[in-house]
Amino acid sequence: MTSRSAEGAAPQASAEALWSGLDEAWQAAFRQAWEAFCSGNIAVGACATDAAGTVVHASRNRVADRDGPRGEIFGSALAHAEVNVLARLRFGQARELVLTTTLEPCLQCSAAIRLGPVSAVRFAGADPLWAGCHDFGRLSPREAARPPVERDGPRPDELGAFGTLIARFWHHGARTEAFLRSHGESGILALIERLRAGGITSKLVEMEVDQALAFLWPELRAMARAPDASPPTVAGIQPAGG
Ligand SMILES: [Zn+2]
Repeated sequence: MTSRSAEGAAPQASAEALWSGLDEAWQAAFRQAWEAFCSGNIAVGACATDAAGTVVHASRNRVADRDGPRGEIFGSALAHAEVNVLARLRFGQARELVLTTTLEPCLQCSAAIRLGPVSAVRFAGADPLWAGCHDFGRLSPREAARPPVERDGPRPDELGAFGTLIARFWHHGARTEAFLRSHGESGILALIERLRAGGITSKLVEMEVDQALAFLWPELRAMARAPDASPPTVAGIQPAGG
């Protein structure tokens, strides 16, 4: 079941207002996603928080990495952000943590969340590639009888658009991109083509995540209002301070 985040529902006047209003977990997840983006991985980040909102562990996608922290997966199709967070959480602890991630979890990560010490998942960007893959109640009577992991997402705001957008910089291949175009992402993919053609990607990797959010704010605003609309051209926009 999808629900809308109350935090994400309020319109924000600026990228700075949105970013400064985020809790520690959202900021940690997006910092990780941005590190993944800048290091040539799929731009997804995640973290787990306890009941007090304290980050227990944060990590990121490492599919393209050749090394990584002990206990995490890298250089593999399985090296997703959520799995790398969950892999570091102690076995046998109560299912009380909240998993915050920048993109709707895939099939693998949804299953890992189901097995992990997690009571709820929050995600920013929608991902039509994996929509519906969290619904394990359809798989077996036992799963149907167990309480599901609560879900909060996708965020309907600019941060949700940002979560999806940055993950799409990865070259998914023609068939996957055709699927995404037919599922509401033609505007996002067109924007990425323009950013690449304009040489903006190399500028983005020099920014911090909150700077990138501010830089892309007009496009994210347009996407949050109309997800499948072609956002305004970014030709000529420059990051603050060059
Ligand atoms: Zn995943």
